[in-house]
Amino acid sequence: MPDDVNYKAELVGVFGHPVAENPSIVMQEAAFKELGLNWRYLTIEVFPEDLAAAIHGMRAFHMKGINLTIPHKVKVLNYLDEVAPDARLMGAVNTVRRDGDKLIGENTDGKGFLRALREDASSDPAGKQVTVLGAGGAARAITVELALAGAKSITVMNRTVSRGQTLVELLNEKTSAESTFHHWTGTYTIPKDTDILVNATSIGLYPDVDARPDLDYSTMSPNMIVSDVIPNPPRTPFLREAKKRGAKTLDGLGMLVYQGAIGFEMWTGMAAPVEAMQRALEAAFRE
Ligand code: NDP
Repeated sequence: MPDDVNYKAELVGVFGHPVAENPSIVMQEAAFKELGLNWRYLTIEVFPEDLAAAIHGMRAFHMKGINLTIPHKVKVLNYLDEVAPDARLMGAVNTVRRDGDKLIGENTDGKGFLRALREDASSDPAGKQVTVLGAGGAARAITVELALAGAKSITVMNRTVSRGQTLVELLNEKTSAESTFHHWTGTYTIPKDTDILVNATSIGLYPDVDARPDLDYSTMSPNMIVSDVIPNPPRTPFLREAKKRGAKTLDGLGMLVYQGAIGFEMWTGMAAPVEAMQRALEAAFRE
């Protein structure tokens, strides 16, 4: 047996409930394989009342990191040593990384969106006017990152008033982006000066694949970058309307891959093989 034998795999994974359909394992394992790393990504069912114990377990197993999904993204803040400033602003952590013995909370959802915007649409959010449909977790992550990256204004429209107002108050109090709330009732006209339009609602998510946000689509213009958070299927009716009108589009699959790539880079310290991750996820969604 050679002297340098090492059977010990490095461990990362996801805690959630329900978690069985979480697709992150597909892209993370594809990345480990691509780079020949002895790492494993585990999909772990953790009930809400067991989160503290699960984080203790993660420390005991010397896991390198973990993703958090429903219902743990907010409660996990109680069990970490540090939380990155953007994740603290959002009040939600979807990725934990290890720095020595410390567990640090991060949020990669909005960062994944920013990376898609910069790399795939060659656009910098600084000075841009943004319109966001929705005010849930994805909208919060995206708007906070856009605001921190220097977006000039953010218009949030949401069906439920209280949720939309809470998000806009947060943006106005904690960032320099001028933020406004519009109550979404009936068909919505997109503000004329919008540079970046984001569907951050769950409208269009599988199996509801023909659904699209109630908008006056004639107000979508070719100058806009139009983005959808829906990863599956990535070609949503909303993005098809945008393409038809000559707008640049970014899909939710790209955002999902980039947020995973950012997590991979935080955990391993290596550049993520983004294309291999994307191919693996596309294949899984086609099955
Ligand atoms: P939340 O439940 O926190 O928020 C859902 C949002 O969608 C709310 O604003 C809700 O409005 C709105 N909404 C849902 N249905 C309707 C409807 N019929 N009409 C109008 N508004 C509606 O979910 P998340 O923010 O966590 O997730 C939203 C989507 O983003 C999901 O599809 C998820 O898969 C996707 N996502 C994608 C990521 C990626 O990397 N691509 C990362 C994270 C999420 P209201 O407040 O009125 O209920």
